[in-house]
Amino acid sequence: MGNVQILLHQHVGAPCRAVVQAGDEVKKGTLIAAPTGLGANIFSSVYGKVTDITEDRIIIEPADEQPDEFVPIDVPEGASKLDMVKAAGIVGMGGAGFPTGVKLGINLAETEMGELDPEINPELPADFKLDCGYILINAAECEPGLEHNIRQIEEECDKVIRGVKYCMEMTKAEKAIFAIKKKNQKAVKILNEALKSEPAISMHLMPDIYPMGEERAVVRECLGVNLTTMQLPSAARSVVVNLETAARIAEAIDEKRPCITKNVTVRGKLNGGNEAHVFMDVPVGTSVGELIERAGGIDGVYGEIIMGGAFTGKSTELDAPITKTTGGIIVTMEFPDLHGARVGILVCACGGSEERMREIASKMNGNVVSVCRCKQAIENKPGAPLKCLRPGNCPGQTANSIQFRKDKCEYIIIGNCSDCSNTVMGSAPKMGLKVFHQTDHAMRTIGHALYRTLKVSKQVSQDIDF
Ligand code: SF4
Repeated sequence: MGNVQILLHQHVGAPCRAVVQAGDEVKKGTLIAAPTGLGANIFSSVYGKVTDITEDRIIIEPADEQPDEFVPIDVPEGASKLDMVKAAGIVGMGGAGFPTGVKLGINLAETEMGELDPEINPELPADFKLDCGYILINAAECEPGLEHNIRQIEEECDKVIRGVKYCMEMTKAEKAIFAIKKKNQKAVKILNEALKSEPAISMHLMPDIYPMGEERAVVRECLGVNLTTMQLPSAARSVVVNLETAARIAEAIDEKRPCITKNVTVRGKLNGGNEAHVFMDVPVGTSVGELIERAGGIDGVYGEIIMGGAFTGKSTELDAPITKTTGGIIVTMEFPDLHGARVGILVCACGGSEERMREIASKMNGNVVSVCRCKQAIENKPGAPLKCLRPGNCPGQTANSIQFRKDKCEYIIIGNCSDCSNTVMGSAPKMGLKVFHQTDHAMRTIGHALYRTLKVSKQVSQDIDF
C-alpha cells in the first residue's frame, strides 16, 4: 500500500485543522483533523506514521500490518445518536459532502411545510400538507455506470435499514421511503423482502433517466412535491439521506466506528474489460492509481480519468486521493479530435459546469465559440452552482440550437439531462449541428447507451407493487 493522503477539506464548509504532527504514530480511527467551522472530524484510515502535513492534506505512511481493529469514536457514556454521528465525521457520501450530524439535527415532527410555489405545483391544493416527517433514502445511484450503492443493498441490506431507522429516530420522522430505480431488480427484490417487517418504511421505484438522484428530484418522485431552487427538502418535511451514508450511520452507532472508508466503483478502459469493479470500504486517502491497479490497471492509451460520475465528476490524476465523497473512478477511451472546429457548449445544472465542459472541448481540440445554458439552469446568487428549476423536465432547447447555428458552430457539446438531450436531438441535427454529449467518451468506454434519444419515455415513477 502506498502513502495515504487525507485531504483536510472533504465536506461542505471550512477545511479542517490538523491535530497531529509529522512523526506521530496513528491507528485506524485516530482523530487527525478537526472542524474549524461547519465541517466534520477526519480520522486516519490506516495504521502508520504521519510523514507530512501540507496546507491541504495529511500524508501517512502505512504500516506493513493493517489489523481490522479501529479506535472507536470518542463520545461520553450515554451520548446521543446524533452526537455519535457528529463524532464519527460522517458527511453526505453520495457526493454532496454536507455534514450529516448537522443535516439530521432537525425535528421533522415539528417542522412545518414550506410555502409551495403554485406555478410548479399546479396539482396540489394551496393548503397541501404532508401527514408526517419523512426520511428519503437516495438509492437512485443516478450516475450511469456506478454500482456500489446497489451492491450495498444486495449485500448489506440489514445494515442500511438499521441506519435508516436511526435517521428516523434522530429526526422524529414517522416514515421513510427508499428511492431506487426499477431496473435494479435484484436489489429491489431484496429490499422488498426486508421491508415486509418494516411497516413505516416503503420503496418508490423510479425510471432509469437522469437525473433522479438530485435531492429535489427525490422529493418530487417520492412525495409529489416540487421544491423551488431555494427550498431544502425540509420544506417538504423530509431529509434526503444517501444510501451509503445511512450504512455509515449504523456503523457509527452500533460499532462506534469512525468514517474512515468509502465504497467506490472503478471501471472503464481497464485490463480485463470494462465491467464495474466495486470496492467496499476503501481506506479514505488511497490513491486513484492504486485503486485502478486493484481493478486490473489501465489498458493502454486513455482519454482521461474521471473522479465521480460521468455527468458531475471531474477529471483527476493517478496520485489523487479517494475522499469521503468519491463514488466512481472511470478511465475513458481517447477523445475524438475535432481539429479546431467551431464548438458550442450547452450547460445544464445537473451536468458539468461551464469550466468542465470547456475542459472537455479543449481535450477534443475544439474551439469554443458559443456558450448557452438550459433556461431552467439558474444561479440562486451570482457565482453559485447552477440549480435546475424542474430537474429532468425539459423546457425546450430549440432557441439554444438556433443560437449555436447563428454562431456558426459545427459541433455542440451538451451536458443535458435525459429529457433535454432528447429535445436537443429534435432540433440540432436538423440545423446541421453535430452533437456530442459530455458523457459520450465515458459511456462508449463502459458500453452504456449514449445520452441522445429518450428511449424510456414510457417509464413512469411508481410506488412498489408486487
Ligand atoms: S431541465 Fe435543463 S437544467 Fe434541468 S436537468 Fe434538464 S438540462 Fe439540466
